[in-house]
Amino acid sequence: MGETIHAGGCVCGDIRYTVTGDPDIVVVCHCEWCQRRTGSAFAMIPKWEQSSFALTAGLLTTYRTFNDSGRWLDLQFCARCGTNIGFTQERRATAQAIDAGTLDDPSIIDRDKHDFRYIYVRSHQDWTEIPKGEAVYDGGLPDDVSEPPPKRQ
Ligand SMILES: [Zn+2]
Ligand SMILES: [Zn+2]
Repeated sequence: MGETIHAGGCVCGDIRYTVTGDPDIVVVCHCEWCQRRTGSAFAMIPKWEQSSFALTAGLLTTYRTFNDSGRWLDLQFCARCGTNIGFTQERRATAQAIDAGTLDDPSIIDRDKHDFRYIYVRSHQDWTEIPKGEAVYDGGLPDDVSEPPPKRQ
């Protein structure tokens, strides 16, 4: 059965990967840590099960960091050009997070189709807009993401 395969990679081309099918969640993260690691205003992070992710060229370099609750998070990047590819984390160790801008076609991430969660909006830059009526969290995601999200008024 044909699930669509999406390719992506880093700016120098050493790292290439594929993800298969739709992401099971799409996190738009406004935390200060993501602002720093991406060098941007927020992070756009679709997540797939690791079984749907395949590295097709190159080797990811990882940097392990620990969050406030002491759980590990491994940043993955290209050692040659420094592009952030994504990360894995202890909180949900079966998932592969992808920095969406590394997809060859980032427009496959679709707000009408995918489960978007806007997190750490307490630290969003005030010129970024949080869409009304979406799943918005002041801080991080709960461990059980099937909990109904709080809604922005
Ligand atoms: Zn590269
Ligand atoms: Zn973040």
